[in-house]
Amino acid sequence: MNYVEEFNVLIIGSGPAGLFSALTLERMGVEGIAVFDRRRYPAGGLLNDGKLNFDYRIGIDVKELQLERGEATDLIGKVKETFIAFPRCRQVTFLDGNEKITAIERTAREHEVKFIAPEQWHWGTDNGKALVDYLRSLLTGTRFILGAEVLSIEKKGGHFYFVCREKGVLKKYRGRTVVAAPGRSGAYWFRDAARKLGIDVRFGPIDVGIRVELNRKFYDAVTDVVYDPKFIFCTRRHHDRVRTFCTNPGGRVRTENYGEFKLMNGDALSSERTENTNFALINTVALTKPFSDTTEFGQMIARQFHLLGGGKPIVQRVGDFREGRRSSTGTFDSPTLHYDVCRATCAAVPGDITLGLPARIVDNLWESLKTLDKIVPGILHPSTLLYAPEIKFFDTQYPSDRFLETNVEGLFVAGDGAGKSRGIVGAAVSGMIVAQGIVRKGFTGKRKKAPGGTKTAGKS
Ligand SMILES: Cc1cc2nc3c(=O)[nH]c(=O)nc-3n(C[C@H](O)[C@H](O)[C@H](O)COP(=O)(O)OP(=O)(O)OC[C@H]3O[C@@H](n4cnc5c(N)ncnc54)[C@H](O)[C@@H]3O)c2cc1C
Repeated sequence: MNYVEEFNVLIIGSGPAGLFSALTLERMGVEGIAVFDRRRYPAGGLLNDGKLNFDYRIGIDVKELQLERGEATDLIGKVKETFIAFPRCRQVTFLDGNEKITAIERTAREHEVKFIAPEQWHWGTDNGKALVDYLRSLLTGTRFILGAEVLSIEKKGGHFYFVCREKGVLKKYRGRTVVAAPGRSGAYWFRDAARKLGIDVRFGPIDVGIRVELNRKFYDAVTDVVYDPKFIFCTRRHHDRVRTFCTNPGGRVRTENYGEFKLMNGDALSSERTENTNFALINTVALTKPFSDTTEFGQMIARQFHLLGGGKPIVQRVGDFREGRRSSTGTFDSPTLHYDVCRATCAAVPGDITLGLPARIVDNLWESLKTLDKIVPGILHPSTLLYAPEIKFFDTQYPSDRFLETNVEGLFVAGDGAGKSRGIVGAAVSGMIVAQGIVRKGFTGKRKKAPGGTKTAGKS
């Protein structure tokens, strides 16, 4: 198969990592950039909720990115400039002189809990498409090759070759350098591709836990001050790390479909609010010998829930959890048990979450919830809902240099799927770092038409 077109930079994925990589390359004068995405609309996770945390402590692993705090803050500042120029992105957490934040911090500290309040902005799922259109309008010199699934990557004679499936037809592209930003949905495909290319791969930790949904009146005292509050617990019994993550005041609980199983998540609209608030409570799990495959561990848990819930996630009321009994359809909204105080926003099967989670994780989550209830009294109302499983697979890591170039020269990695970020801002930051690395390495120049190739013009 002859290649159809040649570019300087081939980017896999049009999420924040891929788009900010392209944007930075364009701004640095690089030509011949192509973004490939298997979806028809270039967005990745940008079509979701859009809470932005502008803080180096959230969603960015400064150690993994080999960044000084100051450097991270500068890059975050650049990401912020781009996002907040989108008119529907509004600030939701203000830090300056906010004494209420200091008060929450103090109460949390009394219970040996770390509280982080970052500057936060939000656009809401209903504005996701407009946000992506805005970002795309900034990219005037990048080709989008959409509905194109990258099936394989090969390196020969100093060039990379992609085989892509586009509307059932296989096409081949050639490039001088590759940015792999496939997100969590493409992480395992890329891991296989990376192994075939001889890229070093290692297992990282995963986050396993639940999505908590409660009547928003119990959490408003905190979320009115900090939209997406971060409480970090070190559990007394097991000394494990548990944290709150992705809070959606007035939001909805959602499921993500991974085919073999479903995982919990949550979002919020900017125009419509529910009576509820939801947030993730997750326990970081790292494994060592004899079994270090965190992917398989997480998938086993997810598959178990899939089995127990007949293909749906499981939800349990706190009232039932406390009594050690499963939740059931008959009493799920019982006014006698005060369960009608919180109406579920997501269809899940009433059951027992402890059947699918390891005991150590259940202990850690429950201990953390009890501690949180001391800081924010009321969150453990009997009507509060515990959905499982919520799992964040940031589990494959690629040793890379300061510019996120792997041991295969010219192949850079960015974003959540490569273990370089955990959120939109972090993914964008990693994309910018990669772009700087590409320019530094001299992978720049004009796009060439392949001999006998079919060069297509314009954006697809
Ligand atoms: C419901 C939900 C709500 C969320 N809310 C927030 C939030 O409020 N704030 C926040 O910071 N984060 C949030 N996130 C997480 C956020 O979406 C991710 O952290 C972020 O999108 C990661 O960016 P990325 O560029 O690494 O990957 P992605 O955004 O996932 O993009 C990867 C892209 O690569 C494409 N791709 C993968 N493999 C291939 C292949 N082989 N060929 C071609 N294309 C491929 C995919 O189609 C995808 O479009 C949320 C996620 C979900 C699911």
